[in-house]
Amino acid sequence: VAAVEALTRGFGERTVLDRLDLEITRGEFIALLGRSGSGKSTLLRALAGLDDEAEGGLSVTGSVAVAFQEPRLVPWKRVHANVTLGLAVPDAKEKADAALAEVGLTERAGAWPLTLSGGEAQRASLARALVRDPDLLLLDEPFSALDALTRITIHQLVLDLWSVHRPAVLLVTHDVDEALLLADRVLVLDQGRIAHESAVPAPRPRHRDHPDLTSLRRTL
Ligand code: ATP
Ligand code: MG
Repeated sequence: VAAVEALTRGFGERTVLDRLDLEITRGEFIALLGRSGSGKSTLLRALAGLDDEAEGGLSVTGSVAVAFQEPRLVPWKRVHANVTLGLAVPDAKEKADAALAEVGLTERAGAWPLTLSGGEAQRASLARALVRDPDLLLLDEPFSALDALTRITIHQLVLDLWSVHRPAVLLVTHDVDEALLLADRVLVLDQGRIAHESAVPAPRPRHRDHPDLTSLRRTL
């Protein structure tokens, strides 16, 4: 779904992405690790088509949705309207209802974004990405502000969505356990390139395989 070839992006003197190569295949779940400032968000912005100053080859086929590191909700639109924003399908409203229910935000659907907690805003932004049913789902640390229990639920939600719709997912995370739990392929960005890459052997541990978590989730 995406091919990046020798992608270079700098800011002033500083080269952040340095002839980076990356191939993203339909249906794969990639976790992207890397130190703070290594360029992960910069790469995601380029993949999302939001950076017209990046140089090199970049081709993305199909639709892309992003959940940004800081949930970028439009402040003068209510949560529900943020989720449906620009969504040109006949059943947009119902889809947004379903996505908000999945992230546990039904009760906050009519709220103004500025009244949301950090985790609620992240979940709203995640719902906005999920509702688009993209071919490539870019998630920039979307779970960082979530409490541990909500995070488990959202992990499961993303895995379920992934196993049904099979988008390619590129998840930025600082959490190695999360990367190994969710992804097929783990990449490390360093010095502007993909410095390390490893395949996570299947069968991967999944939340649904942990009976303890099932009972834990019932208490949510
Ligand atoms: P984090 O894990 O902290 O989110 P990151 O890997 O996502 O880090 P980026 O946000 O991609 O890092 O930033 C990479 C580098 O590029 C940083 O040094 C950052 O300060 C710089 N940078 C990013 N965007 C800009 C910009 N618009 N103008 C100037 N510098 C920028
Ligand atoms: Mg970042």
